[in-house]
Amino acid sequence: MAEARQCFDWDKQWDCSLDPETAKAIRADRSPECDGTCSMCGKFCAVRSMNKALAGEYIDILG
Ligand code: SF4
Repeated sequence: MAEARQCFDWDKQWDCSLDPETAKAIRADRSPECDGTCSMCGKFCAVRSMNKALAGEYIDILG
């Protein structure tokens, strides 16, 4: 699950979850503020920021 989360691979996360249908319903009901993240942290997503940093991309969490 953690590896799937790091890649934001939602299908793989569903496959790893104990209750995929409930997980899918929650995600569908709570759209994330930023594409690619879950609905918790939005543009402050640490996973998203770390992936960007490792790719050499600029990280703008204030914009
Ligand atoms: S938005 Fe927050 S909870 Fe969701 S993956 Fe990113 S850091 Fe984790």
